[in-house]
Amino acid sequence: MNETAKQIDKLIRNVPDFPKPGIQFKDITPVLQDAKTFALVIKTLADGLRNERLTAVAGIESRGFIFASALATELGVGLVLLRKPGKLPWKTLRATYQLEYGTDAIEIHEDAVKEGDRVAVIDDLLATGGTATAAACLLRDAGAEVVKAMFVIELDFLQGREKLRTAGFPAIESLLHY
Ligand code: AMP
Repeated sequence: MNETAKQIDKLIRNVPDFPKPGIQFKDITPVLQDAKTFALVIKTLADGLRNERLTAVAGIESRGFIFASALATELGVGLVLLRKPGKLPWKTLRATYQLEYGTDAIEIHEDAVKEGDRVAVIDDLLATGGTATAAACLLRDAGAEVVKAMFVIELDFLQGREKLRTAGFPAIESLLHY
């Protein structure tokens, strides 16, 4: 673990059995409460994206919004919201994806991106990769190029990275791995 990862790791709270038995929930709220570490997270995410000539960052509801919005202002690019179904007020595009039991879906406004846009997908945590892969596919279907996916935390054992890669999104970076 590098020094940045160590500093973030100290402020990630592991909550066993939340929201259901067997899940080790990685709570990022202590990071947000610590101004220096929150700023370090945003700077480190930004450093991974500065050379990508982005036109926007796309945040996944809801914790992804927190990091994506700060990142958008740091990089001087726009912010695209990837939301749970039924939350966006205008015309939407939707991608559905598989959960352990059943399905879930994610939506964007149909005019959120356009052909030629270069976008990074941002979320707090990469687990099985279902959410991030659906988000990236949705942006690609809407005409954007998804140049990278970045996460604060990646749960390596769930192999979400493989799902993203298989769907054609090989550029993936996480600040912290468990
Ligand atoms: P997945 O689609 O399985 O990669 O799940 C990723 C989404 O679920 C992200 O938006 C995370 O915020 C959330 N998530 C999944 N597992 C955890 C966990 N162990 N701790 C905190 N958030 C999680």
